[in-house]
Amino acid sequence: MRNNEERFNFQENNETPQIETKKPFEFPVQTDFVELPSEGNGYPQGHPLDGKEKVELFYMSANEEDILTSETLAKENLMFERLIESCLVEKFDTSTIQQADRDAILFKIRETGFGREYKTKVQCPKCLKVKEMSLDLQKDVKVKNINLSKVLKTERNTYLYHLEKYDIDVELKILSIKDIRKYDRGVDEKLGYETKFTDKLRAILVSVDDCGVLSYLDNIVKQFPTIDAIELLQVYNELEPSIRLECEFVCDNKECSYRGPLEVPLDTNFFWPEL
Ligand SMILES: [Zn+2]
Repeated sequence: MRNNEERFNFQENNETPQIETKKPFEFPVQTDFVELPSEGNGYPQGHPLDGKEKVELFYMSANEEDILTSETLAKENLMFERLIESCLVEKFDTSTIQQADRDAILFKIRETGFGREYKTKVQCPKCLKVKEMSLDLQKDVKVKNINLSKVLKTERNTYLYHLEKYDIDVELKILSIKDIRKYDRGVDEKLGYETKFTDKLRAILVSVDDCGVLSYLDNIVKQFPTIDAIELLQVYNELEPSIRLECEFVCDNKECSYRGPLEVPLDTNFFWPEL
């Protein structure tokens, strides 16, 4: 629950006579906290989530239902951002959130609106038979912790990784939703094909050997030896938190009987459960 300051902020020496009227009913404001997989790491200094381990959210209400059923927002792919914006107690630009934190927030919003149970259809990875399953949004959520042991944190909350072979430091940053969108541009117009690998490498690079000039970085990305680029992306993967829904899957098909952990993607009924 939020603070109750306002409720107790009455004036003791109020001399104007009070006309007794019945106050119309209002729903109590309900909030809850969600733990951030990033634990506040990797955000630029001064960012509202810098150093924050959790964030406070309003419970979903009919207002958020409008956002979820808006065809306009669905078309523009802005639905989740607007939903989070609407539920945050302290507002800020939601495109600057890291992906894992965004997903953790979405899981919590879903929980406040429709409960912990998430019924969905999953497909057996071996025989492809579809099975209905029920997941628990608290127990079946797996968070990957970040590993900062290979890097040095800088004053601006980026990370320095030492490339032994060349004896240089490479500075990396954790991507926000906005960054991801920027590097995920699809087909390069000049080249005629996707450049996902270099785009991602470029997106995470802040400086190389202390030089952060944009044109220099744009250029050096193209020259990066694959083996070193892969090393960097692996280091980045250890720095970036992740969160996923995972269940222990047992296949119904007797001829298959596959058993193993299975990641469950969020499908359309995550926010639109059958009522
Ligand atoms: Zn199967």
